[in-house]
Amino acid sequence: MVYERYQIDTVDGIDTLRDRMESADTVEDWSFILSDYISAGNAKVSKTTAIFNMNSAHDCPNFGTRENGESDTGYCQVPKEACYAAKTETIYNAALPYRRRQEYLWDCITPELWAKAFMCLNERKRNTFDSIRFSEAGDFRSNADIVRVNTIAKMVDIPVYTYSASHKLNWDLATDFTINASNDRADYGDRRFMALPENQEKPENTVWCPNSLQQNAGVPAEDRIKCGECKLCLNKEGPDVAIHIH
Ligand code: SF4
Repeated sequence: MVYERYQIDTVDGIDTLRDRMESADTVEDWSFILSDYISAGNAKVSKTTAIFNMNSAHDCPNFGTRENGESDTGYCQVPKEACYAAKTETIYNAALPYRRRQEYLWDCITPELWAKAFMCLNERKRNTFDSIRFSEAGDFRSNADIVRVNTIAKMVDIPVYTYSASHKLNWDLATDFTINASNDRADYGDRRFMALPENQEKPENTVWCPNSLQQNAGVPAEDRIKCGECKLCLNKEGPDVAIHIH
């Protein structure tokens, strides 16, 4: 299915979000809004990792570029049909509008306010977030997105990390968060994070993602090591990482 650039006014729930944003006066007010647009981990990521998307998979600037060639920003190493984030948006009706509202929020809020609201919501939590992952779905659209995430990373006192196939952007701007580079078309980011077909060997100086190894070995998803418990992709230092595409 091909998605046209969407009209924000038609996104489910946008009016409620706009009303909330209009009546938000304090950082605390914003923290309750942000709290509803941050998820605590997922099937592969630990619950103590805050996940926020700057856009959906269907609106990702690099979606489908494996088939169609590079976009203005980059190139995705995963075929469209193998994109987990896009599958989620197709299977669960609420996922795409939720992520589009995340994009709206991202575009309307300053990074300074995002960071303050995040710290406020984290103070309320019993089990506090100990890392932030940007882009479970979607990708960086411009250098402005990099600058904004970098501003947030400077303000919060926990690691911030991401995966990106937007190799054409200026990643020198990302001084304070970790970038896992998901294509090899440019020398960017802190490490290569590669998705290899089943049975393909990894290059030298690369380690297998332990979660992927456990998946290959048939370990149930709930028993596998999660990102956050494993910190390979959270740190700027460290080897390249490989996973298998299933
Ligand atoms: S190497 Fe570790 S942090 Fe990276 S994807 Fe695998 S489990 Fe997550």
